[in-house]
Amino acid sequence: MLSLKKSSPLLFGFLVAAVLSLPARGQTLPVEPPSLVAVVGGTLIDGTGRSPVPDTTLLIEDGRIRQIGRRGEVPIPVGAQVIQADGKYLIPGLIDVHVHYNAPFLHRLYLAHGVTTVRDVGTSLERILTLREEIARGNILAPRLFATGGSINTRSLRAAGVSAREMTERLAKAGVDGIKVTGYNEEELKDILEVAHAHGLLVFGHTRLDPGALRAIEIGIDGIEHVTDVLEDCVEENPPFPPDFDWSNRDHFFRHYYSQLHSAVNRDKLDEIIQLMVQNDVYLDPTLVNYNRGFVQRNTAKLAADPAFRYMPEEYDRSNRYGEYGSGDREQWTKTFALMQEATYKFFKAGGFLLMGTDSQAAAPDGALPGSSMHEELEFFVGAGLTPMEVLQTATFNNAKVMNQDKDLGTLETGKYADLIILDANPLENISNTQKIHLVIKDGLVLDPQALLREHIRQYGERGMP
Ligand SMILES: [Zn+2]
Repeated sequence: MLSLKKSSPLLFGFLVAAVLSLPARGQTLPVEPPSLVAVVGGTLIDGTGRSPVPDTTLLIEDGRIRQIGRRGEVPIPVGAQVIQADGKYLIPGLIDVHVHYNAPFLHRLYLAHGVTTVRDVGTSLERILTLREEIARGNILAPRLFATGGSINTRSLRAAGVSAREMTERLAKAGVDGIKVTGYNEEELKDILEVAHAHGLLVFGHTRLDPGALRAIEIGIDGIEHVTDVLEDCVEENPPFPPDFDWSNRDHFFRHYYSQLHSAVNRDKLDEIIQLMVQNDVYLDPTLVNYNRGFVQRNTAKLAADPAFRYMPEEYDRSNRYGEYGSGDREQWTKTFALMQEATYKFFKAGGFLLMGTDSQAAAPDGALPGSSMHEELEFFVGAGLTPMEVLQTATFNNAKVMNQDKDLGTLETGKYADLIILDANPLENISNTQKIHLVIKDGLVLDPQALLREHIRQYGERGMP
């Protein structure tokens, strides 16, 4: 549950003091974020696709990038906080466009991993908009938040007692940043699209139920979440199921159906849908990591030993949602995961607009984790065939663009918000180097990831590891 306590200036001061984490242990005075910050000497990878620029100075004023240039060309104003970044690499802050922001302990985990912006897709409207506002005002130290409110589906419509059209109107008027759909008939989807587009909002989400991906694309959906929703529309004949197979049983569904997509998917149909998505400018957000952790790595020692679990409070443990997996199950899932990566790459190569989201949330260990899984997703995209530069741009530039935030976010350019990561090693040589985070800057506020994690543990405890 989110606790959205009204924050006092004192709390804000405390948060800033805690995360600035200068050696001043025991410091009690509130610390204002510095109005001027100069990051000097780093190699700039600005997210536009331009080649890296070595030995730069990036000057931040009041949370925005004021000037970027070669060291020496940019004068450093008196009183600026100077960050020496010799030998380091600057990339835009990461944006995760598929999260479920369902607990306050997520704040520091995203930031500590360099995720400076997230898009929530499905938390209830009032709760998420209140949180969005508190973050925007600076009362809560957390990633920038964009939100859809609860998703539209048959159940949510029935519960609210309204039509799809009315629900969309209601969400749009409340000020959401997009419309997430998870279940609809053709007429409802048409209505949702009409209302949403009139308000300048995109409609995206699941396409796995009737009428399916192909029809949803033809009707005009703007984006598809989860690559499985595309793959599933390419199944012409279901794989053989055990006699007791039950569609409503989640374990059965993933173990006997989704795991078999590698053999059940018609590759020609897949090519056809991908072409149609590209022609109709329908984005794809594959959320690979969620399936990899949830099924390919299920019940493995490697997953159990993931140090990221240390930060997941015990009460959020929801293990065994999908039962125990043996090597046979994992073998099938490994093949299906390869198909998921193949589809991601095909879509990209065909000119499709690719996004990057994790489906991370406050649940462990059945899927993506907040923050750390974004870096796994980067690795899986490289594994699919994209270059590290293409992958970084997907996670920053594309993700900002889809939210219509590319004027402010997604690249390191003059005038944009100062949301960036300073890395100890070159991510273009090895994408895993995005995990070697020296500092994170959000809104011009310099954050030490280790201090954020220490504060997280102080507040929420640390999970025992095997
Ligand atoms: Zn999700």
